[in-house]
Amino acid sequence: MLIDGENVASSNGATFDSVNPYTNQPWATAPEATEEDVNRAVLAARAAFESGPWSTATPAHRAKLLRNLGALIEESGEELARVQVLENGKLLRELGPQTTALAGHCYFFSGLAETIFGQTVPVSIPNTVNFTMREPIGVVAAVTPWNSPLALLMWKFAPAIAAGNTMVVKPSEITPISTLLFADLVQKAGFPKGVFNVVTGGGQVGAWLTEHPEINKIAFTGSTNIGRQVALTGAKNFKRVSLELGGKSPNIVFADADIDNAVNGVIAGIFAATGQTCLAGSRVLVEESVYEEFTKKFVARTEKIIVGDPNHPETEMGTLACRAQYDKVLSYFKIGVEEGATLLTGGVKANDPKLGGGLFVLPTIFGDVKNDMRIAREEIFGPVASVIKFKDEDEAIRIANDTKFGLAAGVWSNDVKRVHRVVGKLRAGTIWVNNYRRTNYAMPFGGYGESGLGRENGVESIHEYTEVKSVWIDIGGKVADPFNPRAGQTPAK
Ligand code: NAD
Repeated sequence: MLIDGENVASSNGATFDSVNPYTNQPWATAPEATEEDVNRAVLAARAAFESGPWSTATPAHRAKLLRNLGALIEESGEELARVQVLENGKLLRELGPQTTALAGHCYFFSGLAETIFGQTVPVSIPNTVNFTMREPIGVVAAVTPWNSPLALLMWKFAPAIAAGNTMVVKPSEITPISTLLFADLVQKAGFPKGVFNVVTGGGQVGAWLTEHPEINKIAFTGSTNIGRQVALTGAKNFKRVSLELGGKSPNIVFADADIDNAVNGVIAGIFAATGQTCLAGSRVLVEESVYEEFTKKFVARTEKIIVGDPNHPETEMGTLACRAQYDKVLSYFKIGVEEGATLLTGGVKANDPKLGGGLFVLPTIFGDVKNDMRIAREEIFGPVASVIKFKDEDEAIRIANDTKFGLAAGVWSNDVKRVHRVVGKLRAGTIWVNNYRRTNYAMPFGGYGESGLGRENGVESIHEYTEVKSVWIDIGGKVADPFNPRAGQTPAK
């Protein structure tokens, strides 16, 4: 682990295995942190925040270190991607570009480091000058999931560090190694000791970290259930909390859409990353008049998806990331059939002998799904599309919004008036029109409802890592009446 600038083992020597889901074999071990390790990491981050070179680093210096890190990521993005593939079985062809592109986050937020402006405020009271300042919050606890370990860390790291905070991260126990390698790059980039620390281990380590009294802000990405626990933990002593949680996003295909394009976009929404993305378009809403045409094409393309070795450049779908996730997806295949949905394709393990012991399932489509079925309400986090028929625009919007989540939505239509009407009515943090699953460091990302709190990426995300301080300076008035702060300060008529 990385604690106070040192690479360390767990204080009791405990370790755990990281298992490659493609071979289903352990390929690396990581330290299992103790409570004492977590405490040391948090105190190191506190010390770095309060004193030492980071506490007085200028915004320009913070920006320079972020740019150093960006350059290192450009050089080693491919290697970091390969390690993530070993950990979670996602495609190298996706993780390669995704990881190298994280350099862009460093550059974007290095620019913002020097432009975290307060405001001067023209308060209508004579003889005072008013302004606001944005200050770092302090020590940030970051807790990340396994599906995009480095991207979801960077979404927190870049704004937090640009704003002058320090951080302790606890990556998922499924994907600990990539974050440890990322920590090497942070050290190489020149960040002072204690600014960034990594503790590895399971949920208990995350709980020790988020409960620690010296943590000022929790930035969590993961499931809605654990997110709820983390929010309650934060509430106990009013830690700032931002949460990126689950989703059950609607991808709505209107009859006036380019259907072939919509088929590709819907596939990107649900089968890319083996469906293991928070923003998966797992509810596919299709207008009645094109339901037959759409589902026929959707099934035909899905049956051509190449399932296999996540490192191979032609593979289109890799494995599920871990045994628990695999068992969960298999259980939903059964649930969908029992609920009376029509299994249009998939619904089984991939039994190609070439795939060995890997955690593979076939991409799966259920048709005739009703929005009250469990396969339409619960986040499966796997390659399972639930196709729901709708009659008209109002019904599409009603079904789309009938969910406790609100992370994202897709709209497929060539009618510009309809697009604007629908975008305005959907309750979701991100809406893609005639595309799906694009993200960028400059665009805020986050959820409505049980999909989370706060936003990552974009200028908005800096606000998640700063406190606002309001300053009142008297420039010539008097404290005329100690029991009436407004005395003598009434504005002239
Ligand atoms: P998870 O909630 O099981 O675990 C997330 C992290 O929390 C892990 O590091 C885990 O060890 C830690 N954790 C577990 N118990 C904890 C506790 N009591 N206190 C503190 N930390 C604890 O989620 P997962 O299975 O790793 O990831 C999948 C979930 O993440 C899905 O629900 C998905 O939608 C969500 N996700 C959301 C986004 C987003 O941006 N909204 C992005 C990716 C994933």
